[in-house]
Parts: sequence; structure tokens; C-alpha cells
Amino acid sequence: MFDTSNGREGTRFGAFAHHAETTQNSKTMRKQSEGNPQPISEFFGELTFGLGQMRERLPRSSYEALLRTLDQGKKLTPEAADAIAQVVREWAVSKGATHFCHWFQPMTGLTAEKHDAFISIQHSNHSELKVVERFSGTQLVQGEPDASSFPSGGMRSTFEARGYTAWDPSSPLFIIEGETGKTLCIPSIFFSYDGEALDLKTPLLKSSASLSAAACIFLKALGDVDVKAVTATLGTEQEYFLLDKRFAALRPDLVLAGRTVLGAPSPRGQQLEDHYFGSIPTRAKTFMEEVELELYKLGVPIKTRHNEVAPSQFEVAPIFENATIAADHNTLTMETMKRIANRQGLMCLVHEKPFAEINGNGKHCNWSISNDKGENLLDPGTTPHQNLRFLAVLAVVLRAVHKHADVLRASIASPGNDHRLGGNEAPPAIISVFLGSLLSRVLDDIESGKVSGDSESPIMDLGISHIPNVSKDNTDRNRTSPFAFTGNKFEFRAVGGSANVAVPITMLNAAVAESLLDASERLSELMQDKERDVAVVELIKELVVQSKPVRFEGNNYSEEWKTEAAKRGLPMLESTVEALEVLRDSKAVEFLVKTKVLTEAEVLSRYNVGVERYNKTLLIEMTTLVEMVHGYVLPAIEQQLDRSGEALESLRTDGAKKRQTQRLDRMEGTFEQVLTNLEALEEMLQKVDQQEDETEQMKLIAAGATPLANRLRDAADAAERLVSDDLWKLPKYREMLFAMNMS
Ligand code: ADP
Ligand code: MG
Repeated sequence: MFDTSNGREGTRFGAFAHHAETTQNSKTMRKQSEGNPQPISEFFGELTFGLGQMRERLPRSSYEALLRTLDQGKKLTPEAADAIAQVVREWAVSKGATHFCHWFQPMTGLTAEKHDAFISIQHSNHSELKVVERFSGTQLVQGEPDASSFPSGGMRSTFEARGYTAWDPSSPLFIIEGETGKTLCIPSIFFSYDGEALDLKTPLLKSSASLSAAACIFLKALGDVDVKAVTATLGTEQEYFLLDKRFAALRPDLVLAGRTVLGAPSPRGQQLEDHYFGSIPTRAKTFMEEVELELYKLGVPIKTRHNEVAPSQFEVAPIFENATIAADHNTLTMETMKRIANRQGLMCLVHEKPFAEINGNGKHCNWSISNDKGENLLDPGTTPHQNLRFLAVLAVVLRAVHKHADVLRASIASPGNDHRLGGNEAPPAIISVFLGSLLSRVLDDIESGKVSGDSESPIMDLGISHIPNVSKDNTDRNRTSPFAFTGNKFEFRAVGGSANVAVPITMLNAAVAESLLDASERLSELMQDKERDVAVVELIKELVVQSKPVRFEGNNYSEEWKTEAAKRGLPMLESTVEALEVLRDSKAVEFLVKTKVLTEAEVLSRYNVGVERYNKTLLIEMTTLVEMVHGYVLPAIEQQLDRSGEALESLRTDGAKKRQTQRLDRMEGTFEQVLTNLEALEEMLQKVDQQEDETEQMKLIAAGATPLANRLRDAADAAERLVSDDLWKLPKYREMLFAMNMS
């Protein structure tokens, strides 16, 4: 009979009624569903306040002061700050905002905000209180949250708990609409009293500036004398899962860790390959539409939506933007998805591995660089000069990725991504670059000297004056590559779904910046006795030769590649434990200091934060696992043993008795497995707890506790398969993953 007391039956049947209810309740949805929906272009960015609006509303002198801050890094004058604060307040209050906050990205990888109301008290006659909206330049420009509760990686001693946030005017201000109130968010950077970066945004901004400066030098040397600025561009493809909240909320692991730490894989997973690009389930589509609507208002140019490989898995991608803004926008996208999911009775998971045996969430980071004319420097272009420039920039990037493969690997290291990298769903932990057959051939020709340095017209000889449209050369796309060239951009595919992309993009920008500087220097040497084009081809050749080991066109999932990569001397950093160590290698991170992206102390602090977060994350997961085994798994097996034992008593035939005894033996065997591994894990966790050195703790968790947790999980999953459905209180994979498809 149905036993609804455990709550699972109730959720299973309630899911569909709830869908209709949430759709109707949703305020924003109504806007679109009313007879005549507004075109996106009419409300795009209506909740943002950027340079355009500032120019319109500010006195000329204040606007110019702002531009000086933006372009030359000059300090904003108090008068200008006040003037800006005034127009910002007027706009925000007119939109219904009651509060403001500095919105920043501490090293947790999440965002942080501390809200203040705009109201202030004006004392008038007879001590009557009058409330007015007020917002000063100082409040706009600087905040001082208590920094002691944010990770600093040891940079801020406990007695100096002060941390400061400062408005980053390069990213537009925006208003977040809650259920009942609106808050003005001021994108900010976060730093210590001594000016050390305590956040992820500051290094990203610095890396963009370094990249721009270095690229200008290089491009000028190539003959683009009028180039003024170069920007990194970024488009993120965000994968995520959507679950019915009433299943998900019953799982302590999903609530506390964002992933299942146990759970028997469903008999049907993704093997039928029927979900990918299939029609989007209604409930997911409702979710996407509301998310997109909110994001359009926030100025996030969402472009694509589709199903992903695993059941209940989807993807969202925007049109690419300036990388620093795109990074903010990806963070906003993840936050908005979680908020709307909650509103619609769903749970949105961006974790790298929410479920065993099906794909996890990645986040492909499409990256390129363009000049101030908007020309994509990784686009082969139409003229011989553009083609030569393209090959030169491509070669510089290859060199950067080869030289700093270890730091790039470290930049995507997290306990979540450890589940993904190296599995057959995601690229391996070895960083290599895929170029496609056409470009590989072009570079091979350059390398083999099909053209000599003295040639009159090297570009013509090589046939690179007209590189056939590379972007059409997508037929042999290699999905196994962690870093692939896809026509006119690179796609850094090893990035994890929950990552703050500021980190990998910072490292990539810095690596390329250094490579550009080195290449410029070398080019000027070569140009001492060679014509420019000849020298450029020579430079490309050198870079191609140097970076050759990082190029790999084959199957990155294969065992042969591991052997081959080892032969080539590529860094093989299997897990976070090894990858983070790179940040303590002063030679490996020298370029970050050289390009002024991070100081030595800041790099070290990132190592410390990485280790701390690794330990905390895994300890939460493992403690949750232990609790779930005690609270759900063991009681369920005990009840099943009782029940099956009773059934044995009542059996009459020998055959049935024999089989039932065997069944009980098997169950008891599993029970014993669970108990044994549980005890071992608990003991190990105590040892971990006693280890005071955080690096040692990390190693013990990785080498000691993780294998035990895996074994315990296997035993618990075996138990799930043996126990009666009504005794198993936890929502099962099948319920969580396929409920979305049914609506
Ligand atoms: P895919 O076939 O991999 O889905 P798309 O063309 O859809 O490729 O692009 C994926 C992402 O790459 C999108 O976010 C897109 O805006 C972004 N993208 C395209 N061109 C560039 C570029 N020049 N720089 C950065 N990102 C880009
Ligand atoms: Mg892609």
C-alpha cells in the first residue's frame, strides 16, 4: 500500500500540480504571457546603470572625471563621486530600490553583499524625525564590510579585520528584484588595509589591463600602429541540472553539498542519448524563460538554451562580451538561476558532479582577444596582413598555454572538478591544445620551413595570405580537448560548472600577456636584419616549435595520450592536491608577478584559500555521508533484514527457504560492508581532524579519507538496490532525474 509518511510518495505526485501553480504565481512571467509581449530590445538592460546613462545625466565635468578614473586610473574627486551618487540614487529610487550594497567576489568564489537602506534621518524642529533617501559619493565609492569572515589566505592578520570594497566603474550598476523589495548592487573590488586583493575581480581587471598593454606593443610591432586598446572577450557555456525541489530538499547531501554523496545510479541514465538537444521539457522551459527575462533586464545577453547530455541537464550561453563583464555576468547568471529555481519550486545545481555515472556540469569558456576596432585577433580575416597577424597571435597563445599549462591547470582545480577531469565526459587533467587539421597543417608548413626566411613574399609562398575560412573547419571538432581552437576563438573546456571564471581567465590573460611581451622583444631582435613580414614568419616558426608539445589532435580520453603526454613532458596534475602545489612554485607563478596581476603574497594566499576550501568542502561532504548512512541507510537495512527474516520464518518449502537465506546472507554482507567502511571512515575523519597543518590535512583527506568514502558509498548504493522502496526514505536518482521529463 502507499505509505505517504516518508514524504516521497507525496512529492512524487505533487510535482505536476505545483508546476501550474508556480507558473501562474510568477510575476515576471506574466509580463511576457500577457497578449503582446515586449520585444527584448525594449527592456534589455532596464535594471542597469552604466556609462551611457551616466553620460546622459551627469554634469560634463563629473562625467569626464569618471572617464579619467576609468581610462587612466585617476582617483575620483569627492565632488564627482557625490554627483554620480546623486544620479545613481535618483535612478535607483525611481526604479523602486530601497537598499544598496557593494557586490563583490571574495575568494570563496561566490558573491558577497551587505545591504544598507538608502534612508537617513533628518532632524527637524521639535525633534520630529524625518526620513529621507540619501546616498553619498563615499557610500558609492567605498564600503567597509567586516573582512574577518572572508577567506584571506593569511594575508590579513586577525587583528586587522578591516577589508574595503571599492566601486568598479567598469561594470554597470544593477538592481536585483527580490520577491518584495529591490536592491541596487554596486559591482566592487575587495582588498585589505595594505591594498592586497582579497577578491577574484581585482586580479581579473589587472590581467585585462596587462593583456591590453602587452597586446598593443605586439600589434604595433606587427604594423598596427594606431591600436589603442585590446580586450579579452569571453562567452561562457554554463551547464546545470534542474530538479524538483521537493525531491531535492529531502536530500541532505544536495542541500548541504550541492551533490549527491550516495545514491544508486538509475538503470536508465544517459545511455539512450535521447535528452541531448531534445525538445525542452515544459517545466524547464518555463524556468529558462523567466531566468532569461530577468537576465535581459540585467543586461546579460543570453543567447542559447538547450538540453544537455544527462537527463534533467541543460545549458545556457550568452553572446560574448568583454571578459571582465562576462565574468560578472556569469556569476549573476548562476545566482539568478538559483533564485528563480527556488521561486519555481526547483533546485538548480551547477556542481561539477551532482550525480554518479552521468555527466557533470562544465563551463566552456570561449575566449578571444579583439582590438579597439572590434576586430577579433583570432579571426583569420580577409587580407594577407590580417592572416599574418592571426597566425602570430595564435602562435603567441599556443606558447602561453604551453609555458603555463601547470598554472592553467591549477586555475581550474577544485574538489568538484576532480570528479570531472579525467572521466570520459570531460577533458583530462592534462592541458593540451587542439587546432584542427587545417591550422595544424599551416603551422606544420611554417615549422618545416616550406618557406625560407629570405623568401620575397613569405605569406604568399605559404598560402597563408588566404587561409581558407577556418571557422568553417569545424567538422573535425575534438570534444575531448581541454583547450580547443574553434574557428575564431579558443574554448577552455576544462573549467568546472560552479567555478568563478575570473580565476582561469585571469591566468589565461596573464599567460598570454607575458607571451606577447616576450614575442615583441624577440620580434624586434629579428627585425634588426629582416623585413617585418619575414621576421614575423620567423617568429611564428620559433613559437610553433617551442609550443609543439602542447598541441594534440587525438583522443584526449585515451590511455595512449597519458603515455604520450608524459613523454612530451607536459604537466600531469591529476587532482587538486597536485595542481594547487603549482601555486607554491615561485618559478611557475613568476609571470603573474611580472605582469603585475598578483603579488607573491597574493599568489600564496590563493594557495592557502584553495587548500582551506578543499578541506572544508570535502569534510562537509564526508560528514554528510556519515550522517546519511547513520540516519537513512543503516535503519533501512535493519528494517529490511527484520522483514526478510520474518518472511523466512513463514516460508514452508526448502527451495524458497534456501533462496531466502541466500538473500539474507547477501543483505547481511552488504550491511557488514556498510558498517565496516563507516567505522573506517569515522576513524579516518578523526585523524584528519587532529591534523593541524592544512596541507597535510588535504593530503590525508585525498589519500586516506576519499577512498574510504568511495567504498562506503558503494556499499550504501548496493544496499539501496536491496532494500524495499517504502523503506528507502531518500529520493532516488530515477525520481530526481526523470521527474522533469514528464512535465
Ligand atoms: P558552440 O558551437 O561551441 O556552441 P557558439 O558559436 O555557440 O559555439 O559559441 C559559444 C560561445 O562562444 C558563445 O557564448 C559565443 O558568444 C562565444 N563566442 C563566439 N565568438 C567569441 C569570441 N570572439 N570571443 C569570445 N567568445 C566568443
Ligand atoms: Mg562550445
